[in-house]
Amino acid sequence: YSEDEQTEDYLFKIVLIGDSAVGKSNLLARFARDEFYPNSKSTIGVEFQTQKMDINGKEVKAQIWDTAGQERFRAVTSAYYRGAVGALLVYDISRRQTFDSIGRWLNELHTHSDMNVVTILVGNKSDLKDAREVTTAEGKALAEAQGLFFMETSALDSSNVSAAFQTVVREIYNILS
Ligand code: GDP
Ligand code: MG
Repeated sequence: YSEDEQTEDYLFKIVLIGDSAVGKSNLLARFARDEFYPNSKSTIGVEFQTQKMDINGKEVKAQIWDTAGQERFRAVTSAYYRGAVGALLVYDISRRQTFDSIGRWLNELHTHSDMNVVTILVGNKSDLKDAREVTTAEGKALAEAQGLFFMETSALDSSNVSAAFQTVVREIYNILS
């Protein structure tokens, strides 16, 4: 193989979507910086963060976009979705209402981006066991029905956070390479 091949650049745009306060910004903070904000407000949202990842020995850059809180007003713009090849569709396992919104988010995603965008359904806050309102089986069933990957995560205790991002990036890489 050539030197060129080794330094080949992969840059994948990935968007975080889902209702307000499901933990999107904290998933990104945990994944990119290993940080967690117990009382975060929408102000911690950055436009995007670029994270280097190793996929099958290749360096891949995931450009992960976070909202700045505009989802509260259902005002995520088409520019946010433009060019996205991956998406994390996040709900909060302790708030059923956020799970009920998933269909709307999926519609919005498909309106503004390619139908083939690699999507994972993410049930966040898996640490809140006593407050659970959405079962793992329900999440799994919805994901299967919609052809999405599925994982439950906790930005608080870190469980499955890297795995969720990696699942999306690996699948994109496999499709495009
Ligand atoms: P966003 O509006 O979707 O970006 O949500 P944030 O990341 O701002 O999180 C909203 C609130 O939920 C904050 O108070 C976070 O500390 C909290 N939070 C986020 N992820 C988790 C998690 O995995 N477990 C628990 N217990 N709280 C979380
Ligand atoms: Mg946020």
